[in-house]
Amino acid sequence: MNQPSLSLYLHIPFCQHRCAYCDFNTYTSLLDLRETYADALVTEMAQVAGDVRRPVHTVFFGGGTPSLMSPAAMGRILDGVRTHFQLAADAEITMEANPGTVDLDYLTAVRHTGINRISFGVQSVIPSELALLERTHDFATVVEAVAMARQVGLDNFNLDLIYSVPGQTLASWEQSVRTVLELDPAHLSLYCLTIEPGTPMQRWLINGRIQPPDPDLAADQYELACTLLAEHGYDHYEISNWAKPGQECEHNLTYWRNGDYLGLGAGAHGHAAGVRYQVVKQPRVYLRRLQEAAAPGYPLSTAVAASHPVSRAEAISDTMMTQLRLLNEGLDLDAFAAQFGQPLREIYNGTLEQMLAWELVGVENGRLRLTPKGWFLSNQVFYRFMLDDA
Ligand code: SF4
Repeated sequence: MNQPSLSLYLHIPFCQHRCAYCDFNTYTSLLDLRETYADALVTEMAQVAGDVRRPVHTVFFGGGTPSLMSPAAMGRILDGVRTHFQLAADAEITMEANPGTVDLDYLTAVRHTGINRISFGVQSVIPSELALLERTHDFATVVEAVAMARQVGLDNFNLDLIYSVPGQTLASWEQSVRTVLELDPAHLSLYCLTIEPGTPMQRWLINGRIQPPDPDLAADQYELACTLLAEHGYDHYEISNWAKPGQECEHNLTYWRNGDYLGLGAGAHGHAAGVRYQVVKQPRVYLRRLQEAAAPGYPLSTAVAASHPVSRAEAISDTMMTQLRLLNEGLDLDAFAAQFGQPLREIYNGTLEQMLAWELVGVENGRLRLTPKGWFLSNQVFYRFMLDDA
């Protein structure tokens, strides 16, 4: 049987310090578990895969801070991928890294394990903004990390920046964007800061240490970045992502095309074989659960905390929300009708006309896309395209 090619997301839930804005599933007191955790990821792969070696074309180590894993642990995990899946010879294999956690020996060693793409969390080049975010690196460290990555052949690298940071101005944001452009990255991800419940930053907002974000400034910052990156030849291919031609993130394209991916590791989410699931979040519980014998069968392991079959309404809503994020590609109307047995105009009778009349979306060459006005209001658009289960 012809198996569709999968993407694998591997969650590494360890950090040295928790940044003030972070609500990711990560822990600063469990670093001793790292080697055991690497072996547990391979156990989870064995459970999920069973006897079938399915093709895989991307692997993404996210976190947390994957660059806190030893090269030996990364090597064992990737050997596990090669054992339990058919890893394509040209697979994109990405790891997220904190600039302050890598040196030349480390990057050389992880490059040898098969890592061929790296994503550095830069966030800002301004010391006061990095301090507020509680990032532990400075920009000089980023420059060194990028130079070392290049030295070991990791030319395909992404840099993350954050806008709408309290105290950030349009000018300081421009400085961050222009400065990272001098590093000539293959890819840039620009995220709008959201102040999440339970984070130190939310407490600072409540007690008045920081001011609430200004949505107008955030919109100006986004618009400025769009202009600067276009001038430098970057393709704005997804709402928050820009790439040099041909250097889009293949792994994230799987998400945005609503494709099948396996999420492995504590707190990871997955979507495969018509099922969505989440793995248990606490790493110690994750390790314990993987010692249980009977796995439920593909795509679930004994560490899965919740799963459900994707209904037709959910699949349609997900397709709208993911594909419309792709600004050039958008959503192919014929492919949509073939997949769901009904034209999009019929399913969204009225809603689509309204979105078109408000010029938030447009149709061209059989594809539905967000307009530049829609980029700014994408959450509003996605909300209106969400369907309830009948
Ligand atoms: S490095 Fe990333 S995952 Fe770790 S605490 Fe900071 S923001 Fe969260």
